[in-house]
Amino acid sequence: MKFSNKAMLITYPDSLGGNLKELDNNLQTKFYKSIGGIHLLPFFPSSGDRGFAPERYDVVDGKFGDWNDIRKLSNDFYLMFDFMINHLSKKSPEFQDFLKKGYNSKFSNMFINWNRFWPSGRPNSNDIDLIYKRKDKAPVQEITLHDGRKTLLWNTFGSEQIDLNIDSSEVKKMLINVLKIFSENGASIVRLDAFAYAIKKIDSNDFFVEPDIWKLLGWINRIATKDQLMILPEIHENYKLVDKVSDHGYFTYDFALPMLVLNAIYSRKSTKLLNWIKSRPMKQFTTLDTHDGIGVVDVKGILSDKEIRTTVDELYKRGSNVKRIYSSAEYNNLDIYQINTTYYSALGENDAAYLLSRVIQVFSPGIPQIYYVGLLAGSNDLKLLESTKEGRNINRHFYTSNEISKEIKRPVVIKLLHLLEFRNSCEAFDLFGYIDFEQEDEKHFSIIRSNKEKSEVAKIVVDLNDYSFELFNNNKIVKL
Ligand code: BGC
Repeated sequence: MKFSNKAMLITYPDSLGGNLKELDNNLQTKFYKSIGGIHLLPFFPSSGDRGFAPERYDVVDGKFGDWNDIRKLSNDFYLMFDFMINHLSKKSPEFQDFLKKGYNSKFSNMFINWNRFWPSGRPNSNDIDLIYKRKDKAPVQEITLHDGRKTLLWNTFGSEQIDLNIDSSEVKKMLINVLKIFSENGASIVRLDAFAYAIKKIDSNDFFVEPDIWKLLGWINRIATKDQLMILPEIHENYKLVDKVSDHGYFTYDFALPMLVLNAIYSRKSTKLLNWIKSRPMKQFTTLDTHDGIGVVDVKGILSDKEIRTTVDELYKRGSNVKRIYSSAEYNNLDIYQINTTYYSALGENDAAYLLSRVIQVFSPGIPQIYYVGLLAGSNDLKLLESTKEGRNINRHFYTSNEISKEIKRPVVIKLLHLLEFRNSCEAFDLFGYIDFEQEDEKHFSIIRSNKEKSEVAKIVVDLNDYSFELFNNNKIVKL
């Protein structure tokens, strides 16, 4: 299935029923018209970070299924797969070869030798401070080779995720091969995971290094295009960086929307939210929730620091079972700028507020992405969180097929599924169409979407007092 302007589900291969076959079965029987595409989170053999430490890309991890299952999904849904451009697993054959043969391995240049990277006498403390980090230590790991010698390698994320040297011909070859495998097995979009970390350069902060990053994206995009793939670069940072990616013509993510919607719902003030939505391109994917936490750094400069603080405080006050400690080192938090919670719990499990947040997302420019826990209006999973001590697991509940059958009977889920069905079938959400706004006061506003020909109109009239809304299609009320 080719990419189309329809809502995209984000799910792990084993989150909705336990494996790929059950996922397909659940999608076919329960969500068919609500979902047009799937961001299928990493399904390769992996040694950590729930798939984000890939060992290899040519096989599907047997516990999920096989390539046939994936190709079958691609018959009915457009698919997005992750390419972890920044790192590879320590269990990968390439890294294992390196451990065995050290710098005689033909793969040794795939990884970044920390000492060779720096000129002699460096890094000094200024160098380390300058590096853009998501944890409180230098991004380096000491590795012991099989012969007992030790070497330091660049390591941005978890200990299993060894950074790749994007200049090495082996890494380039790997990328070309992987995109081909993706394309042959049903992908239409490649998500470039954490791409901004891929370029490391002396005297830079090693994050989103310009102009090098544009050369890299351009090169990948040319290969992807030949394979009939589109790329979606993933970056959690200030919106100005995201806008640059958009200005270069790529699809982007809107990771600022989740905090802006929370802010509007908590404060009952819509101006900041509407100004933001007005400024967004149609060529984007919107989010309220993903498999990661809610991005706080993403909203910096859009909300004032004070507004951000108040929104975060409100989240902890009003949210159900959301605690600061769940987003801290004690729960192995990978990213100090993200808050771990389900979106439904962040809104205090208030059905009206939750549905309204999804309506706002659906009416925003671009294509809505909806995380599987969000699709089922799921609450924080404290059991999984506590048994694993992994902060992000609060929002990674494993649903059995029976549980899904039960959850989809809840009114809030029924309405959400209808909303997505409406979004997927109504032509007013044309990506070449228009978006207009009416704002009576902070609490009362409308968003109007229309197609290019202006023959189809969808309108939402919102009241932030009680989080109610009315939905119209060509002036007729639509009941969810
Ligand atoms: C993914 C995370 C992952 C990290 C490292 C991110 O941006 O979304 O889930 O832990 O990249 O791969």
